[in-house]
Amino acid sequence: MPTQKPQLTPISEMTFAELEASARACTLCSEHLPLGPRPVFQISSTARILIAGQAPGRRVHETGVPFNDPSGDRLRAWMGIDRATFYDARRVAIIPMGFCYPGTGKSGDLPPRPECAETWRKALLAQLGRVELTLVIGQYALDWHLPERTQGTLTETVQAWRSYQPSIWPMPHPSPRNNLWLKKNLWFEQDVLPELRLQVAKLLDTH
Ligand code: SF4
Repeated sequence: MPTQKPQLTPISEMTFAELEASARACTLCSEHLPLGPRPVFQISSTARILIAGQAPGRRVHETGVPFNDPSGDRLRAWMGIDRATFYDARRVAIIPMGFCYPGTGKSGDLPPRPECAETWRKALLAQLGRVELTLVIGQYALDWHLPERTQGTLTETVQAWRSYQPSIWPMPHPSPRNNLWLKKNLWFEQDVLPELRLQVAKLLDTH
């Protein structure tokens, strides 16, 4: 007797719970992942802030906690919030372009796996009805969240931050690898971050 394949619910028709569970169990691009799949993200339908990052690094892969590394320490300092607030999924969603560690190349971590955003991003973002501020971190997230931006560099896009107010904040990656960028672009810490901290505090009611 022929066996019947289980009927899978299309992603576009999944409930929030089904969607989150399916993304957390995803193995779609496992053949490309040197340490195997371990999707790392944080989400709830009540979040007010979205952090749209790149992909987990090795340390985040090992702990399963997003931004649990020096990049995260710097990002929390940029936002002016502590770990407890940052990891409160009811307030802050963290949805990178790729959910699993993609491996390391000659000049740092490899790009996020493209299958990831293609498969999950639209559906997950559609669940975030209360988000009012999105931190768009690094080139891949900028390309997704600001497709209309001109061909400018990341620096030019971040420099034009006022034109994306109040909901989108283009950001450089907070990685220690970007220390030189931060030294060359002092305006980012002097002009952008104080304003960002104000907006974050207002939304999270932490001021
Ligand atoms: S990177 Fe994304 S698409 Fe690939 S296995 Fe992880 S969750 Fe699935």
